Amino acid sequence: MKNMEIKKFIENEITFMELVEKAKEVYNPRKISPFIEAGGVSAAILTEDNNIYTGVCIDTSCSLGMCAERNAIANMITNGESKIKKLVCYCGANIIGSPCGACREYLMQLDKESGNIEILTNLKEMKTVRLKDLIPDWWGARFESRDQESNFVEI
Ligand SMILES: [Zn+2]
Repeated sequence: MKNMEIKKFIENEITFMELVEKAKEVYNPRKISPFIEAGGVSAAILTEDNNIYTGVCIDTSCSLGMCAERNAIANMITNGESKIKKLVCYCGANIIGSPCGACREYLMQLDKESGNIEILTNLKEMKTVRLKDLIPDWWGARFESRDQESNFVEI
């Protein structure tokens, strides 16, 4: 079996249900301090290298917090990866959330192929959507023909 075939086989093994279970593992609403609550939303992402990273929301006074999705992304980047294939956002009670506008923007800026990230939107029906369908007419699309490094130099 060639490497590509092995990778595809492994990829097919990681399902949205597995990502939901990973998100559930870290879901844990709690008060951290008089100013901070965390864990009321959790996220799990599957990367191109077939690793799973999770994160929880951290809600603070004075808008210093971060969403579960961006926490999971920070975990992924810390571990040297940046390409996401699938994303699940878990809100408790078997409810699946959708990334907020800020997270959609953050995800789009991560990689040229981010528009293809598959996002679970309904657990009961196992309905999914592509990120590009959640953020139509994205402003950064005009830079897609350039390489990623030049975007930072020219803007
Ligand atoms: Zn968000």
